[in-house]
Amino acid sequence: MSPALEKKAPQRSCIACGKQAQKAELFRLVRSEEGRVAFDASGKARGRGAYVCSTGCLERAFKSKRIDRALRTSTARADFEQICIALPDSLQVI
Ligand SMILES: [Zn+2]
Repeated sequence: MSPALEKKAPQRSCIACGKQAQKAELFRLVRSEEGRVAFDASGKARGRGAYVCSTGCLERAFKSKRIDRALRTSTARADFEQICIALPDSLQVI
């Protein structure tokens, strides 16, 4: 992509489907220092982050180990379940 086409707003892409969106439209996952993975509601937590665009993509990313690859850790099922619980109500995993 030519530099002239760079977008002004920071864009992030979903690790599951690759969809690009503004940071605020995606869910940020963050890896803690202990290697645990959590939902970062503020979007500003310290640590390595990865983005998903929906709970469906969250689930796909977990099952395909893309979260693990993006965050260079091993996502525990318990952590994944916590993330599902922590996501906004309107986007609960069915
Ligand atoms: Zn997605």
